[in-house]
Amino acid sequence: MSSRKNNKQASDQKVARRDIPDRLRVSPNSRFKLKDTDAERDFGWDKDKAAVATAENRKRLEELQYRLYADGRYALLLAIQAIDGGGKDSTIRRVVSAFNPQGCSVTAFKAPSVEELRHDFLWRIHKAAPARGSVGVFNRSHYEDVLVVRVNDLVPRAVWERRYEQINAFERTLSECDTRIVKIFLHISKEEQRERFQDRLDDRKKNWKFDLGDLEKRTQRDAYNQAFEVMLQKCSTQHAPWYVIPANRKWFRDFAVSQILIYELEQLPLRFPQPRFDVKSVKLV
Ligand code: AMP
Ligand code: MG
Repeated sequence: MSSRKNNKQASDQKVARRDIPDRLRVSPNSRFKLKDTDAERDFGWDKDKAAVATAENRKRLEELQYRLYADGRYALLLAIQAIDGGGKDSTIRRVVSAFNPQGCSVTAFKAPSVEELRHDFLWRIHKAAPARGSVGVFNRSHYEDVLVVRVNDLVPRAVWERRYEQINAFERTLSECDTRIVKIFLHISKEEQRERFQDRLDDRKKNWKFDLGDLEKRTQRDAYNQAFEVMLQKCSTQHAPWYVIPANRKWFRDFAVSQILIYELEQLPLRFPQPRFDVKSVKLV
């Protein structure tokens, strides 16, 4: 462990687990700055306690998803964004895996296909939105259309500038049609990204994950940070909030994401449907 990881912030009093979501949510119309979020932060939690809490949270998530499925009126959409190496895949593996696969779908959004490019940018996204009763997870999302697209000028400025409004309107539609939307931004430091890339180079089993294209993105970090900030400022809304997770410490990341998912699912008035017959009158022979 590097010394960097021992430099705990003196100011971090332990924050109660139920308060974690409030502390990480970006307020609508805020002047959010990424530099104000320390990617090392742990809110006074330590690795062992967080691991125990995460294990408990996974059980709770399984119960909540069971209710969501049985209830059948609401959907949950979880969108995950991060820089390369930010931990999107491992968050899905370690937290989202608490859900029963029957009732949960994960969609990874790559560079759009020729067919996808012939449609509006939300076409492929809307098709992957979860149905009532289920959870849909986006590994990257429509936000790439104001991130990589903005940073690399893949469309004219006038086109990507309109997209913030279009995204808010789209998300409002989903939310008014009973989809609860949760957006997670995993924030890691440039140094942590370097260590994770180095690991991908050193570990033969991880070589496949290393993408030379990610090196170019690393040199564009300032432009990406600016694009992330605008996205977080303009698109964290009441109906579809962004959460920024300090994600250098994987155990804190998993704990925080599981805590947020519990909070969001608990906002839904989930109930088991009333049987449409007299249960007592049924006699099994
Ligand atoms: P990975 O998540 O490592 O498999 O990489 C997927 C790649 O697809 C990333 O480099 C993204 O930036 C890229 N990508 C995803 N969505 C879009 C989009 N809408 N336009 C251009 N590139 C995209
Ligand atoms: Mg990649």
